[in-house]
Amino acid sequence: MTETGLQPEALPETVAPAPTARDLFAKFDPLIAERDKLMASGVRDPFGIVMEEVRSPTTAVIRGQETILLGTYNYMGMTFDPDVIAAGQRALEQFGSGTNGSRMLNGTFRDHVDAEDALREFYGAAHAMVFSTGYQANLGVISTIAGRGEYVILDADSHASIYDGCKMGDAEIVRFRHNSVEDLDKRLGRLPKEPGKLVVLEGVYSMLGDIAPLREMVAVARKHGCMVLVDEAHSMGFFGEHGRGVYEELGLALGDDVDFVIGTFSKSVGTVGGFCISNHPKFEVLRLSCRPYIFTASLPPSVVATAATSVRKLMHAHAKRARLWDNARRLHGGLKALGFRLGTEAPDSAIVAVILEDQEQAVAMWQGLLEAGLYVNVARPPATPTGTFLLRCSICAEHSAEQIDRVIGMFAAAGQQVGAITAT
Ligand code: PMP
Repeated sequence: MTETGLQPEALPETVAPAPTARDLFAKFDPLIAERDKLMASGVRDPFGIVMEEVRSPTTAVIRGQETILLGTYNYMGMTFDPDVIAAGQRALEQFGSGTNGSRMLNGTFRDHVDAEDALREFYGAAHAMVFSTGYQANLGVISTIAGRGEYVILDADSHASIYDGCKMGDAEIVRFRHNSVEDLDKRLGRLPKEPGKLVVLEGVYSMLGDIAPLREMVAVARKHGCMVLVDEAHSMGFFGEHGRGVYEELGLALGDDVDFVIGTFSKSVGTVGGFCISNHPKFEVLRLSCRPYIFTASLPPSVVATAATSVRKLMHAHAKRARLWDNARRLHGGLKALGFRLGTEAPDSAIVAVILEDQEQAVAMWQGLLEAGLYVNVARPPATPTGTFLLRCSICAEHSAEQIDRVIGMFAAAGQQVGAITAT
């Protein structure tokens, strides 16, 4: 008997040659060709940047050169906070390097609970559930709470994790035009009244840096009897009185107006992880039913310890918030004055998107900036809407005014070089 239970003598003596496999990678040929063409033009790979050394929340060494970081999502500059680092070091020493398992079985340590306590304090909420990433938080919550015969209604420009949460679940999916209250209302009006519905929104849309008209959206969602989930990944820490996000800034309340807030530790909090906040009385049942929470290892103790400390410090980070908004206004104003086409008319968020003609221009300018000592993000479809190529800047509270002025100077030179703006 073999381990599989097969009798060796029952195996065929000669094995027929396998048919030549159909190459499953053939479908990637257009993508490979597009990338080869771009690389053949002599540019560096914008998706292959290595930071050899990170010196602060705003500077790193890339290819031996000190470079200003303007594409990190490190909005509140918490990655080098001494208290945050000390909390991580203590947890690493006391609890070891990893958890080895799922929250359900062997992966809930003291600091997972403490991170959830910190989130409940931060949001003034009844419930908080930590996931291993923000991506998994969206995947898990959306796919679990909206089931067969129910509906998820989402903005067309939603983050990939929201789309993937929809794909993973069994609910019907309805998209509405980006930030269009009218289109949301129209589409909800066409759906049957009885089934449960979840409207999924984002506080800040991360490609263009525009914010959602959440007050109007929530009013429409409630009029049609829908629950509401808002992803506040790009607003935590600096929108609203307590830094809870755009929903707070616009006067909405958890429970009355918004049922679920999704967030991440990877941006303002400065580490990695995701979470969902809610006041729903049955919320805790998700710990027993949400597959991306159950079937994966939990975050290492050092990560959740840094997150808990960072979240608690963000509650009182008023000076940082003010500096972040000063920087956003300074950069947005400077780039606008140079004549760049920007994602938003005003500095609505900590993301300033510079819209370029095409991929070639975007990558050439990105390279010009990198060579001058500035790192920004190239964003292209499918992350952006079709045909939109961006150089995206995410601002940090720790950027100095002098750094922002240097950045504006670098944009002026690189923009003129590729013909995105004319010389003044
Ligand atoms: N939601 C939004 C709106 C995001 O932009 C991101 C990440 N860019 C996520 C969720 C996922 O967060 P994480 O990096 O923690 O997986």
